[in-house]
Amino acid sequence: MEYTKKMCPCGFPQSWHIPHEHDQTDREKEIIEHFRGTYEENQKAIKALADACKAQHDAIDVLFAKLITLDESFLPSKSGKLWEALLEGNEALETYGE
Ligand SMILES: [Zn+2]
Repeated sequence: MEYTKKMCPCGFPQSWHIPHEHDQTDREKEIIEHFRGTYEENQKAIKALADACKAQHDAIDVLFAKLITLDESFLPSKSGKLWEALLEGNEALETYGE
C-alpha cells in the first residue's frame, strides 16, 4: 500500500481524514465556546478567591501579632479554629494562589 500524505485545504497534514476545527458543526463550536467561557470565568473566580484568601491570611497574621502584644501567653498555634483557618488558607494559596 502506497503511503500518501495529504494536506487538508486548511493546511492540516493528514494521512487519512482526521476531524479538526473547521469540521466542527456550528452546534459543536457553540458548545466548545460555552465551555471555554465557563473555564475562563472559573479561572477568574479562582484568582479572585485566592486574592481574598491572601488578604484574609494577612489580616489574621496582623490580628495574631496584636493578640500576642496584648497577651504574651497567647500562642497562635494553640488558638484552635483560628490556627486551622490559617493553615487551610495556606493550603488553598499553595494550590490555587500565584
Ligand atoms: Zn482542515
